[in-house]
Order: sequence, then structure tokens, then C-alpha cells
Amino acid sequence: MYENCNNSLGMAKIKGAAVVDIDRCKGCAVCVAACPFDVLALAREVNAKGYHYSSAAHPDACTGCTNCAVVCPDSCITVYRQKE
Ligand code: SF4
Ligand code: SF4
Repeated sequence: MYENCNNSLGMAKIKGAAVVDIDRCKGCAVCVAACPFDVLALAREVNAKGYHYSSAAHPDACTGCTNCAVVCPDSCITVYRQKE
């Protein structure tokens, strides 16, 4: 069953949250480049391995598109989605 998407009235907005497993992140920034909304950035702080880990610098802009999770070579990102 498909939803009628011809108008936005009554359609729920999707909000996303990208959660990085900080201790496993190697700071390669592939996810930062892959995010279309500049949600992610490398932190100034380092994790236990000494890497500047990725985290959500602008979490409110996340749409839950999952691009970041798909491209992470170490599967460090979990994306959650909810209707607003
Ligand atoms: S789920 Fe999409 S919008 Fe959210 S941080 Fe990842 S790439 Fe960016
Ligand atoms: S792609 Fe994965 S390993 Fe690389 S910075 Fe992002 S979360 Fe860390």
C-alpha cells in the first residue's frame, strides 16, 4: 500500500538521529563527506584509540537518510528515524 505523496499536508516529517560508536570510529571522515546536510563532523577530542571521532555536530538537520551508516567502512553508525 502506497501513501499519497502529492501534497505535504498531513504527511509526517521524518526526523533522524545518527549515533556513532565513538570508540570504534577511526576518524576517516567518509561519513562526514557523505552526509548531504552537514550533520556530522570530526570532534576536537579523540577517542581511546587517539582518533578524532565523528559525531553529530548539527543533529537537528538529520533526516535519517542512512547515507553515513552505509558508507562507514567499519559500520560504526546506527541511524534511528522517527515521525515528528
Ligand atoms: S542519516 Fe543522513 S542526514 Fe543523518 S547524519 Fe547520516 S547522512 Fe546525514
Ligand atoms: S566513516 Fe565510520 S570510521 Fe569513518 S569517521 Fe565516520 S563513523 Fe568513523
